Amino acid sequence: MRITRVFLASLLAISVVPLPAQTPASPLSGYSAQNSASEQQWEEKFRALPSTDNLRNYMQRLSARPHHVGSPYDKDNAEWILAQFKQWGLDAHIEQFDVLFPTPKERLVELVAPTKFVAKLQEPAVAGDPTSNQQKEQLPTYNAYSADGDVTGPLVYVNYGMREDYEKLDRMGVSVKGAIVIARYGGGWRGIKPKVAAEHGAIGCLIYSDPKDDGYTEGDVFPKGPFRPQDGVQRGSVEDTDYPGDPLTPGVGATKDAKRLAIKDSPVIQKIPVLPISYADAQPLLAAIAGPDAPEEWRGSLALSYHVGPGPAKVHLKMFSNWDIKPVYDVIAKIPGSQFPDEWVLRGNHHDAWVNGAEDPLSGQVAMMEEARSLGELVKQGWKPKRTIIFCAWDGEEPGLLGSTEWVETHDKELTEHAVMYVNSDTNGRGFLHASGSHSLERFVNDVEKTVTDPETKKTVWERAHLMRIARAKNSEDRQEARHRGDSRIGALGDGSDYASFLDHLGVAALNIGYGGETDGGIYHSIYDDFYWYTHFGDPKFEYGRALSQTGGTMLMRMADADVLPFEFTNASDTIAKYVDDLKKILKTKQEEITEQNSEIDEGVFTATADPTKPYVPPTKEAVPPFLNFAPLDNAVVDFKKSAERYDKAMKALVKTGLPADGAKLAALNQMLIRSERAYTNPQGLAERPWFKHMIYAPGAYTGYGVKTIPSVHEPLDAKKWAAAEAGVPAAAKAIEDEAKLVDSAAEAVEKLAGQ
Ligand SMILES: [Zn+2]
Repeated sequence: MRITRVFLASLLAISVVPLPAQTPASPLSGYSAQNSASEQQWEEKFRALPSTDNLRNYMQRLSARPHHVGSPYDKDNAEWILAQFKQWGLDAHIEQFDVLFPTPKERLVELVAPTKFVAKLQEPAVAGDPTSNQQKEQLPTYNAYSADGDVTGPLVYVNYGMREDYEKLDRMGVSVKGAIVIARYGGGWRGIKPKVAAEHGAIGCLIYSDPKDDGYTEGDVFPKGPFRPQDGVQRGSVEDTDYPGDPLTPGVGATKDAKRLAIKDSPVIQKIPVLPISYADAQPLLAAIAGPDAPEEWRGSLALSYHVGPGPAKVHLKMFSNWDIKPVYDVIAKIPGSQFPDEWVLRGNHHDAWVNGAEDPLSGQVAMMEEARSLGELVKQGWKPKRTIIFCAWDGEEPGLLGSTEWVETHDKELTEHAVMYVNSDTNGRGFLHASGSHSLERFVNDVEKTVTDPETKKTVWERAHLMRIARAKNSEDRQEARHRGDSRIGALGDGSDYASFLDHLGVAALNIGYGGETDGGIYHSIYDDFYWYTHFGDPKFEYGRALSQTGGTMLMRMADADVLPFEFTNASDTIAKYVDDLKKILKTKQEEITEQNSEIDEGVFTATADPTKPYVPPTKEAVPPFLNFAPLDNAVVDFKKSAERYDKAMKALVKTGLPADGAKLAALNQMLIRSERAYTNPQGLAERPWFKHMIYAPGAYTGYGVKTIPSVHEPLDAKKWAAAEAGVPAAAKAIEDEAKLVDSAAEAVEKLAGQ
């Protein structure tokens, strides 16, 4: 996520508001008075340990050479990380999986008419940047899991290449059938672009980085500034979102002897060839397109008139991959729990990159390693976590969450039984803490945020993020809520990093954390994402790396040592009620929009207002969506709210009488809390994507990274499949009812403990 400078200016203009008083004397949530005091001491000791010099040294070492899946340095890094974990006293090993990882064999993009131009498809070394010249080891620019193909066709510019862009093309009377489309990066996840293009009959897809989005329009380009230079290219996976992980082993771990699909049978490989290109390579192609002018909001900032086509620009695109099975090396390290070794608190970040990957993923990886070192140090000083802490340095995240997904699928039974929480990070920069994830952990996140100091303002990171929310609020209602709601809201998780299989497939409560908003640039997935860039434009002092270590490590300690696991449900029930309201709003808006459009078609509005000298195809009338029965969801929300409030009330009473310091008395309650996120899952999964089992959160099939909450209803509503939307209600309602029942049982257990 990137936050603009305009926003920062508005943030600075906001006056400081009074903050809720902190009461350090009251015990930590989930802790008896006695254990709370010692926990706070250990946590403070911990937060003093992470060192910015270490973070810098790890990053320099790990980013010294390209380290994508299957490269020598990827393995070398895994072994080095393993050695560090061991040296710090952790019980560590490498777990290997064998996955399908295509690399380019042949790439060609050429303009064959009306003039000739051959795209360079090469990022040049930059003087002064010592790793940018490692061409022999760099993966060429490409999109992994493109189809193989050799195609020639007229070129059509499709803006971001999302579904709504094709609706606009329909109005202009432009078809992409038999054409090669050129889309710009942005507007949604890159894998959606070739998928939607193929659905509309296109035979090939190019994706380029427009300077308006992360190039010179934003600021100086690398190496003078952080933004994308003219030959910079964003690599990236286009593996489709039916399921993440190895394309050949859906639902099971990609171990040596796993049963594998034939490559041609994998549903997650794109149907047409696709290649990413730089804006230097895109310029002559776009300049050669004629036909209708691109709508104003489609225009980038290249010095040309953006036209839509098709043609007369004609492009020849060739893309063939080596379809090899490659090893991925997950490094897994444990600190065993002293009282509840079978309750696992997990922390992960990937170590593989597209090239040198200083920002993505090493800025997060080095912070996680420093957490591991610091916790190892605490163990030497006598700290004994009650629960087991497991660090996971994942391989193969970039191609498709391969390392984490295969590990989770291999260990699904153990994880279902033992996993308490998974905390993920990926890239990290300067700015504000962004935390998203399970809403039963919202208060927990708020509590931890109040313990970490923001390096730039010396406020707590909670205060800073809280003020940001006020500055950023869309309307006065949201602003008032941001100001007065006790806990700051956290976002929901979609897809896009290694938490997906924990949360979406198994129902393990998960968080994704990272700092950002002040680090901006255009080197994502290019050869320029390296140590030189990061130490000039990322987080040069590694102070936010240290803040991330302090945040992640405090979360692990707080959860691992708790007497009662600090899950909380009133925030979750409030949030889920909002999600149900959202569904109703979507339906109502669609009903109104379609009714209005049908009237305008009858009145002749579209044809009368279109410029008759330009091609224009008015929309055709659609059936107005029927009213749908959301009652099971409404009832479930009411039940969940009641049980959440009951649990909250019971817990407050128990805290008053004193939480038992004897963990054995609380073991059964904690078992229920561990299962609280599992209750949201349905073993059948989503109707069209059965790998996704969570009924509250899933990535969108047409947004990729972006989340669709209550996906069994939300996704069909977006696709205007009204009957399917209604058919998705009972499964979602049952998940919420199951959660309500479980929380009710937990409340009863707490009431008994409090002698109520
Ligand atoms: Zn990453």
